[in-house]
Amino acid sequence: MLLLRAVLGNICSRVSRVPLGVPISRFSAAAIPAPNPKADVHFNQIFINNEWQDAVSKKTFPTVNPSTGEVICQVAEGDKVDVDRAVKAAQEAFKLGSPWRRMDASHRGVLLNRLADLIQRDRAYLATLETLDNGKPYAVSYAVDLDLVIKCLRYYAGWADKYHGKNIPIDGDYFSYTRHEPVGVCGQIIPWNFPLLMLAWKFGPALATGNVIVMKVAEQTPLTALYIASLVKEAGFPPGVVNIVPGLGPTAGAAIAAHMDVDKVAFTGSTEVGRFIQQAAGKSNLKKVTLELGGKSPNIILSDSDLDWAVEQSHFALFFNQGQCCCAGSRTYVQEDIYKEFVERSVQRAKTRVVGDPFDFKTEQGPQVDEAQFKKIMGYIKTGRQEGAKLLCGGSAAADRGYFIQPTVFGDVTDNMTIAREEIFGPVMQILKFKSIEEVIERANNSMYGLAASVFTKDLDKANYVSQALRAGTVWINCYDVLGAQAPFGGYKASGTGREGGEYALQAYTEVKTVTMKVPQKNS
Ligand code: ADP
Repeated sequence: MLLLRAVLGNICSRVSRVPLGVPISRFSAAAIPAPNPKADVHFNQIFINNEWQDAVSKKTFPTVNPSTGEVICQVAEGDKVDVDRAVKAAQEAFKLGSPWRRMDASHRGVLLNRLADLIQRDRAYLATLETLDNGKPYAVSYAVDLDLVIKCLRYYAGWADKYHGKNIPIDGDYFSYTRHEPVGVCGQIIPWNFPLLMLAWKFGPALATGNVIVMKVAEQTPLTALYIASLVKEAGFPPGVVNIVPGLGPTAGAAIAAHMDVDKVAFTGSTEVGRFIQQAAGKSNLKKVTLELGGKSPNIILSDSDLDWAVEQSHFALFFNQGQCCCAGSRTYVQEDIYKEFVERSVQRAKTRVVGDPFDFKTEQGPQVDEAQFKKIMGYIKTGRQEGAKLLCGGSAAADRGYFIQPTVFGDVTDNMTIAREEIFGPVMQILKFKSIEEVIERANNSMYGLAASVFTKDLDKANYVSQALRAGTVWINCYDVLGAQAPFGGYKASGTGREGGEYALQAYTEVKTVTMKVPQKNS
């Protein structure tokens, strides 16, 4: 009881200080169960046909705890041969007349809901495993990531028997209608920043519409997806409907992208790899491609905004998830008359951000996911200083071991600096000054990316004007990172192709078939 009160107390105090766009606050009244960081890992093999197997090569790779740099366990390293096996299993499950193809659409919804129930049952364990493998604070894993995962699966469960075609008034004596049919074998390649949520975003629409899946999880964070595979089996999905191949990008990932029998590939990750995926799809069987890629999202603070709120939300927009969000608000444009005060307050807020053990309920920021990311981010900090940006706080490692980085804020950033153009994917904030709305719109849109954007103002006309002018797949007004399964998410320009989430994601997982039938005009 004491422990519980301590846990709740900590969460509540954090909640009052950290208004998350994705509302952790709903959990302030409920207990988040204590984690068990020493929990066992149960699954580390390849999952094909509802069975576990080693890689054909017998190779494994280590997955590392980013808080300590220590190996958690070895994981089977699938490559092309294993992907081939998984694709065969998926094709078999997708054959006409198979249990999956004959299953009522409503029953696909039942299975997705069952999967959500099982995730809810094992939520504390899954949140623990996510934190162990990824480094994100446990309270966030439990209250935010798992919440969104469960809601996403339930949302798409509801769609399973509701996404249907139309009657078409074609000319002549014909009856014409469309059917929304599954695309077939869907290759899904996901990143490490939201391992479970990215899985749910891809499983939900694919399974609701009757597809079969070969997923490659990120090599940094394979563990939670493999546990989910065991729940897929327990929920009752037929063998071969979901297959998960852990492995490396250039081998297992590339094999999916280039596979002649994969009908669609859905990828979330860097723009650089997104280009490879699209090329591989073009060079092989012209499989359908959806890409959710990088960003350098502008967060615009007009001088009439609520300053306290704008500072806190801008902090959240950048630092949430250790800065490892494709939609991070990583170009903070502040109007000149409030610039000085905004910068001071933002630095103050960054200095009080609690960095440390992700299993501690007080922690706001855990380690970066791995050594490579840590080094890359430290490299950007160095470049920022060299190019003349003003380092206002942070800038160094935050611990002797593990991949912790101090919350870092750069002021006096200009548009042509590397840190204002490239995706840093870490806890490094760039603050830029602007004069007029027209000027900031032009500067905000002057980027190869177009994933997200935001504007803070109390003036509704300005909010509407700016939000319509910004070339981005999502625009938040007076908030940031508010994401829900119901709303589509994806990018303009080099931030991607297609949308995940909402009804729009279903389009990406269905082929539209037009059926036209001659209708005799006389009953003979
Ligand atoms: P990040 O830079 O965020 O790690 P990546 O784009 O490198 O993002 O990785 C996202 C996913 O893409 C991971 O699952 C990774 O293994 C995979 N991947 C990396 N390189 C390739 C590739 N050449 N072909 C296919 N998948 C790849």
